[in-house]
Amino acid sequence: MLPKPPPRESSLGFLYLPPYRVQGLSVAGEATCIQIPELDLCFDMGSCPRAALASNFVALSHGHMDHVGGLAYYCSQRRFQGMGDGTIVCDARIESDVRTMLEGFQALERQVTPFNLVPLQEDEVFKLKNNVSLKGFHTEHTAPSMGYSIIEHRTKLKPEYTDFPQEKLRELKNRGEEITRNLEVPLISYLGDTAAGSHLLRDDVLKSKIIITECTFFDPGHRGRANIGKHLHAADIAEWLRVAECDAMVLVHVSRRTHLGEARAQLTEGLREEDIGRVHFLMDHRTNRMRYEQQLAEAEAAHVKV
Ligand SMILES: [Zn+2]
Ligand SMILES: [Zn+2]
Repeated sequence: MLPKPPPRESSLGFLYLPPYRVQGLSVAGEATCIQIPELDLCFDMGSCPRAALASNFVALSHGHMDHVGGLAYYCSQRRFQGMGDGTIVCDARIESDVRTMLEGFQALERQVTPFNLVPLQEDEVFKLKNNVSLKGFHTEHTAPSMGYSIIEHRTKLKPEYTDFPQEKLRELKNRGEEITRNLEVPLISYLGDTAAGSHLLRDDVLKSKIIITECTFFDPGHRGRANIGKHLHAADIAEWLRVAECDAMVLVHVSRRTHLGEARAQLTEGLREEDIGRVHFLMDHRTNRMRYEQQLAEAEAAHVKV
């Protein structure tokens, strides 16, 4: 009898939530790395899949190995492939530890791998591109932890001017009149490892179009374990969905021991009918593939109609 070859690596999770792709891998305790290619950003770098190298920005939720294990590799490999310096955004409370880790690898490799490290305080903002920024906020875990909201900045005509003709508006503007107001539109929120708390109910989180969040426990008997590890339980998700305005809530950080079918059933039990369709599991490859095929078919049908 010949020995068997090793098991194949599992593929990346993928969801198309227009206009964003949410892709990557996330298994509790093993590795989490979630990429939004449209924003040039990865949340966490527990390991570094090939696709993740292309993102110029990484936002770290906390320092546990399953969220930072691939970070030094990300920096080193980007240098090796001539992709430029990556920018790593993190909670200011872990900045020096992240720096020490990356400098440790510089010493080991006998090469100065460049990286930009940007620490954020509570509610501090980092600009990703012209009108889009990343806002950090504290969450609650067994290590210092940070969640993020991606905010789009828009300007809108003040309501009192909406009926004014263009030339009148131009005239007012030329006179130095402030005719617009600034709007902050939350696009995506990411909650790394966290217990439930007021951070789940922040305005920017509740108003985000997409929430990507951990959910580590599903069994009704595992609420105590969730509390001890400062993780979310399916019951927290059900409660949260009653007030969150998101079109999609993407669950990540499910453990390998959890059977996805069972987890979905346990979660669904506590959900309102109208919330069921809003919840996705990033690593449920079968369901997500079927969903994407449906999206393809719909896009093709729409194209034929045109
Ligand atoms: Zn974790
Ligand atoms: Zn953790």
